[in-house]
Amino acid sequence: MAIEYAIWAVYKHACLRFHRTLAFLCYIFVMVLNTLILNSIFSFSRTKLSFKTKLLQIILVVIVAIVGDCLVDLFTSHPLLKCISDNSTHFFIAVISWMFIEELDFSVILFGSPLLCGMMASFVDLDHFVAARSFTIHEATSLSFRPILHWTTLPVTFFVFLVILALAVHSVKLYKFAWFILTAFGTHHLRDGYRRGIWIHPLPSIPPFPYVIYLIGLVAIMLSFNFVMYHPLIMNCLQETQRRDDLPVLQTKFSKIQTV
Ligand SMILES: [Zn+2]
Repeated sequence: MAIEYAIWAVYKHACLRFHRTLAFLCYIFVMVLNTLILNSIFSFSRTKLSFKTKLLQIILVVIVAIVGDCLVDLFTSHPLLKCISDNSTHFFIAVISWMFIEELDFSVILFGSPLLCGMMASFVDLDHFVAARSFTIHEATSLSFRPILHWTTLPVTFFVFLVILALAVHSVKLYKFAWFILTAFGTHHLRDGYRRGIWIHPLPSIPPFPYVIYLIGLVAIMLSFNFVMYHPLIMNCLQETQRRDDLPVLQTKFSKIQTV
């Protein structure tokens, strides 16, 4: 009787887990689909990628996030493997996110900026070793405080500064670099945030949030950054001022040739 009850309890638990996972996956799918449809309707950006590629990148980032965290949980008793899987998850999330935001397809994954974005997201965790003044994983992961590169105010301030500078010098490259930095740090801080919260001193820190919020946040970062970065209001402003600046230079050169 006790065995029967135990089997029934396990079965019930498995069913419940399965249904919860299925319901959650359906919810994520519907949410992503709705957001993509809304994005394609209201987005002013001329998307270089097909709807299918964009949807694939969103699904892939969610899968990478879930699988990565499962591996981290699996390697709890192996600090080195845990550290590698944790850092790799940060890397791949940033790579796919930047591909989506900059509208790049999978052919550039090994050569272009996505690889650099992933590396930057991974390097953020190096500050654990700097703060611990030690190369041992145990000391780096058992800090009583959060190291400087995990202070979200820092990349946000740097981003604002770079955008203002890009607008002042009319540089599209600098403007994209600002978004590149924000993507690398933003995805990293959001993933750390569901366990430790988000540190936005001098504002009060955001406490740890549910895992679903983290996944929704990842998708929201990709969609919103892509939407704002390629918004014609800003892009036209950057490109038009560039063209307007070029015009007098050409005229001056031309008048000089005429006088000679
Ligand atoms: Zn971190």
